[in-house]
Amino acid sequence: STGKPAFRRILLKLSGEGFCRPGEGGISVEEVSRIARQVSRVASLGVEIAVVVGGGNILRGAQLSRGSDVIKEATAHYMGMTATVINGLALQDALEHQGCETRLLTTIRMDEIAEPFIRRRALSHLAKGRIVVLATGTGSPFVTTDTAAALRGKELGVEVLMKATRVDGVYSADPEKNPHAILYESLTYDQVLRDELKVMDMTAIGMCMENRLPILVFNFKKDGNIERAVCGEPLGTWVAA
Ligand code: UDP
Repeated sequence: STGKPAFRRILLKLSGEGFCRPGEGGISVEEVSRIARQVSRVASLGVEIAVVVGGGNILRGAQLSRGSDVIKEATAHYMGMTATVINGLALQDALEHQGCETRLLTTIRMDEIAEPFIRRRALSHLAKGRIVVLATGTGSPFVTTDTAAALRGKELGVEVLMKATRVDGVYSADPEKNPHAILYESLTYDQVLRDELKVMDMTAIGMCMENRLPILVFNFKKDGNIERAVCGEPLGTWVAA
């Protein structure tokens, strides 16, 4: 452990890309285990953790419905939401393998495999030290799990929305394509919206801005980074008012 946590309650947004090997799709047990080890270390510091899982490693609604109307756009989004459940189930078991107590919660009911998301119950799980894994996003089509993260972050009263990515934070250009891209240490919501910087989708940024929920964009592929970020070490990009 690196020190004392700077936050008591966090929301961690894990995109689907965290569940597979770079450039691949589907689920890699190794990648899921790696995340689970990092998250379990943060939990052992006594930090309350809610995780919103994405589904992009399996299916994104906007991509599937583009260019054809055989599968309706709304249907494609519901398919994307069910994809997040697959990741949620994987993460739940991987976390329990690390000895963490967890609950999988969905907004679209799946009584046999998950609990319905009920705000007060989610808060009670957190207070008991359980890691709450939130799947199916908002339960509504046409938005993404980033928006779900902003909404749940607000209603669960977290101090920070930690957006896990494959790069070190927010850059002036795509760092995987442009070697001259510079990494921002901090940004305001306004700058992100104005310059259309790739932090999260714009709806999610707008919600965080309205609710004054700070966002930390950081690289979770570097082992120990989730813990370092939670302990307040300067890393990634901090987005606030
Ligand atoms: N989705 C949705 N409503 C939500 C959250 C997700 O319709 O509230 C659908 C949407 O089609 C999205 C897919 O589920 O593309 C998977 O989620 P997302 O793209 O956010 O996953 P990530 O990019 O984080 O892996």
